[in-house]
Amino acid sequence: MKRPAFALGLSILTLCVPLCVPHARAETNAAEEAQYRAEALRNLPQNAARRLFSIPVNPARLPAQAVGAYGKGCVAGAVQLAPEGPGWQVMRLSRARNFGHPNLVAWIQGLAAGARKDGWPDLLIGDMAQPRGGPMLTGHASHQLGLEVDIWLTPAPAQRVLTMAEREEMPAIDLVQPDLLDVNAGFTPGHLALLRRAALMPEVDRIFVNAAIKRAACRDAAGERGWLRKVRPWPGHTHHFHVALKCPNAGCGNRNPVPAGDGCGKDLAHWFREEVRFPRKPDVAPKILRLNDLPQACRKVLAAP
Ligand SMILES: [Zn+2]
Repeated sequence: MKRPAFALGLSILTLCVPLCVPHARAETNAAEEAQYRAEALRNLPQNAARRLFSIPVNPARLPAQAVGAYGKGCVAGAVQLAPEGPGWQVMRLSRARNFGHPNLVAWIQGLAAGARKDGWPDLLIGDMAQPRGGPMLTGHASHQLGLEVDIWLTPAPAQRVLTMAEREEMPAIDLVQPDLLDVNAGFTPGHLALLRRAALMPEVDRIFVNAAIKRAACRDAAGERGWLRKVRPWPGHTHHFHVALKCPNAGCGNRNPVPAGDGCGKDLAHWFREEVRFPRKPDVAPKILRLNDLPQACRKVLAAP
């Protein structure tokens, strides 16, 4: 059954504006996104980092540098991923989130070339970062350093490039069953090969997928299994996978190291408990990040030409 995603999203928005970040999903279309953004702009304080970092339309003309933490930072000297190239097409271009540290852009191009060799049609690229990174008006606690990208689990239609209108409206495909216990029939060996290829690239710190997808990868992976370690279960991520690259410079907060092992044992079982699959909504709204909450250097990034 198709989930009424738009209605659900709007009801969450109504309940928690201005404190919550609406969960902008890969499949959110342009009209929905515009409404989320307008609501956020109406309600956020003037010095909210989400508001300020949504304004610049160009990267900061500074040497490339990721500043701060994945969930509290920004990026200088970002570059834009072209709307399409050999092996990829960018979705939801109207969001202008196809920016990143040059390492991220190069990495996506490398994955796209490799995936093509595996027979995967073009990668559909979701959100990367804003031109100067930072928190976004809608969606994502992370994606602030220009080192993260959401890649759709939906392959591009074979042998053609999507029109701009299709890139705004085409829905992503959900690969997980409604009870979140297992993948559905849409999950193929091609998905497994794509995750494996991405995880084996040395620049990758970790990849987030839904626990049901991790479970399927644990079950289906043949041969060497070391790559499974980087594929981590995380809520959501039923329509796309999230890739985080390692920090390329000092002053950029690496996360805790990924634990040893393939992550297929009891740690994974935890994610299938009822209360973890369908958690209660938190009673306390998340704190709104102000500009002062970000590293000082992000002020320079924001003010740079
Ligand atoms: Zn993401």
